[in-house]
Amino acid sequence: MSTETFVQTILKLSKLPDESYEGYLLKQDNLYRRIPEEAKAELLRNAVECGKQAAQPLKGKPLAEFLQQAGIQVVYTKETSNKTKNAYTLAEIRLPDRITLNETLIDSGQKLINHEADLQFLTAQASIADILSAHELFHYLENRDKLYTTEKHIQYKIGPFSKTARIHALSEIAATAFVKEVYGLTFSPLLFNPVLLYNFDTEFSEDFAAQLLKRVG
Ligand SMILES: [Zn+2]
Repeated sequence: MSTETFVQTILKLSKLPDESYEGYLLKQDNLYRRIPEEAKAELLRNAVECGKQAAQPLKGKPLAEFLQQAGIQVVYTKETSNKTKNAYTLAEIRLPDRITLNETLIDSGQKLINHEADLQFLTAQASIADILSAHELFHYLENRDKLYTTEKHIQYKIGPFSKTARIHALSEIAATAFVKEVYGLTFSPLLFNPVLLYNFDTEFSEDFAAQLLKRVG
């Protein structure tokens, strides 16, 4: 895949509807098979609504201020591993109060965006670091405020036993809706995964982008 093809793939991905990404994320859940078909639409609707609601107090405010008030510290790490891993962490939160951002991959993504005019829409509303931090902030808020996404969403049976379980993918779906709402993004923040990895691990990034297009598109 040439860089031009990669950029075109990202542009195609940026135009796919939210519902397609929501369905894709739900399918990633370990319990996906346990979710009754007729319950899926409502779970998704509730998760998206939960993310949007949680975003309201943040709209138009500097994220740094909000993080500071919540006592959340943002720290940066470097990607020390060699290339070709099977998973990368762009950002994570360690509850209760620490967000870690992968500086190496943020810088790598920013360089690509600076170089490719067609990708500059990605950071037109907010920086990569703010978008990644906002996603992690949602995980802080859902936990602190015991939001819908932390509830037990389904009940199922294993043999004679009845179990209730949380669908973790709903947290990711809500976090995505949260970030989109906070910054008014018109594309899925999932696009940052391939974009941040492109210069660092091109093969991984291209595979990921192609997989997304196949599964979401
Ligand atoms: Zn997340």
